[in-house]
Amino acid sequence: MTDLPEKNDFIRQIIRDDLASGKHDSILTRFPPEPNGYLHIGHVKSICLNFGVAQEFNGACNLRFDDTNPIAENQDYVDSIKADVAWLGFDWAAEVRYTSHYFDKLYQWAVKLIKQGDAYVDLQTPDEIREHRGGFGKPSVESPQRNVSIDENLSRFDDMKNGKYKEGEAVLRAKIDMNHTNINMRDPVIYRIMHANHHQTGDTWCIYPMYDYAHPLSDAHEGITHSICTLEFEDHRPFYDWLVEKVGFDVPPRQYEFSRLNIDHTLTSKRKLKRLVDMGVVSGWDDPRMPTIAGMRRRGYPAEGLRDFCERIGVSKADGVVDFRQLEFSIRSVLENTANRGMAVLNPLKVTIKNFDEAVVDFEKLKKDTVKARLDDGVLWLTQPKHPQADHGEREIPFTRTIYIDKSDFKITPPNGYKRLSPQNPEIRLRNSYVLKVEEYITDDAGEVVELIASIDPKTLGNNPEGRKVKGVIHWVSASHGVPATVRLYEHLLLEDDEISDEHFASIKTANPDADDDALWVLTHVNPNSIKVINAIVEPSLAQAQGDDKFQFERESYFVADSVEHSTDKPVFNQIVGLKDGFK
Ligand code: ATP
Ligand code: MG
Repeated sequence: MTDLPEKNDFIRQIIRDDLASGKHDSILTRFPPEPNGYLHIGHVKSICLNFGVAQEFNGACNLRFDDTNPIAENQDYVDSIKADVAWLGFDWAAEVRYTSHYFDKLYQWAVKLIKQGDAYVDLQTPDEIREHRGGFGKPSVESPQRNVSIDENLSRFDDMKNGKYKEGEAVLRAKIDMNHTNINMRDPVIYRIMHANHHQTGDTWCIYPMYDYAHPLSDAHEGITHSICTLEFEDHRPFYDWLVEKVGFDVPPRQYEFSRLNIDHTLTSKRKLKRLVDMGVVSGWDDPRMPTIAGMRRRGYPAEGLRDFCERIGVSKADGVVDFRQLEFSIRSVLENTANRGMAVLNPLKVTIKNFDEAVVDFEKLKKDTVKARLDDGVLWLTQPKHPQADHGEREIPFTRTIYIDKSDFKITPPNGYKRLSPQNPEIRLRNSYVLKVEEYITDDAGEVVELIASIDPKTLGNNPEGRKVKGVIHWVSASHGVPATVRLYEHLLLEDDEISDEHFASIKTANPDADDDALWVLTHVNPNSIKVINAIVEPSLAQAQGDDKFQFERESYFVADSVEHSTDKPVFNQIVGLKDGFK
């Protein structure tokens, strides 16, 4: 996209200043996901920012797994995150980093803190620790172990490491200030005991560093210059700075916070997304309705569209909710220039063209420069470009005696302003083909139209009709040569609070008395109409698609051939986004 102004958000200003003043010769950022789920659209913003500024300022960006909680993490998540970042189009500096690869160093730094009198082993229960931190007018209470000797602490920490305590029996805490106005500075826990197998380090460790301890030190150790994170970490910055200073790094990294991405109808919490997967509400992390990168990829969102979206929303410290249609705008504008066109009929209505055989024999006599076609065994093969502007080659569309049009394109009693077929307006242009005239319609017992009998004007292939104007163009597919396809239409996966009635909420609650809060949230917010699967008919060139090929089904929507289930024998398409832009 070319119409975007130069990026000049506050992060980029800081970096520009730091380079200009000589504070840094080059910059190093990092993207630090915890491998406890698949990445989502919120992470895309963080990835585009961290990798984006690194690219723009000739620096580099590390991909680091902040893998300090083995219970929630696994290798599948690690692999998916690597694949997702690469798919978005970014390269991380050198090899992938893991906080767990620094466990030895992190341990040594903890020992250093103990030796400096800056950390102690606390033997209170987790409940006591929480209670004694105080807060909101409640005074804090110092731990009985806060002032024991350094030697005693060293030996207890050694015991923690050697598995002499059970989980919850001991933690290591930074010794800062139990009366600090910032609760994060009231002797935060920096190591805990977990007798758990880790996906990278196996059974080597039974103590694991806390995120707030491991993260700043990993940044400092890697030489990160700008540690960019979301606003909820603002209150953690004093501890970040305290820690880096106490451990003693020459060039401390600096943390900068920006506002997280929120989009209406869209979940940006790995925890709740995992619930959707675990509860079977979706088919998996890559269900095309999921706002995960894997889901959006399968949905047919191009990586370029996601990057464009992030550029447009920009970076600031202001919280807010981005309109979902803004995301769709970016996706659509990329597809407009890249997706090939094709015709697919989603709600087929049979049309028999009475004069087909007599009419099409004439096509040879028509102006050859306006139409490219060949007649073969009663089928008129019409050649059309795959894309109206881009040089993507051509496709052949079979035109036959029986075709399908969409049910919605014929109405016995047309509403006001209806521009398509009706008994009052029987003529219309068939896209890429002739002008069609409805002669007769056949209804079933219920009065529903089941077939049209029509004719074509032989002189209108590539030409305007003589002596009259025909308004409107509709799409169609050959009944004999079209291919049946499964087409999935989507709505938002989740409803907003104000779209859920009190009755619905109450009935879900009654029906699921044992559900916890997250489960209730999921059950009440899931849109029952988020997916509609229909049997459509597509032109042969669409059926020939490879998985992940994207198309504009003319007059319908953009669609992608499903990367998992589509085959040329059994085509499966996912709706990507509608053709019209509701966003202003
Ligand atoms: P979640 O709550 O979904 O698990 P998280 O922040 O815990 O998200 P991490 O794996 O720790 O997930 O995130 C990696 C990086 O992505 C962090 O720097 C985090 O700030 C950033 N990030 C996560 N969610 C968003 C969001 N909605 N908008 C912008 N950045 C985000
Ligand atoms: Mg997190």
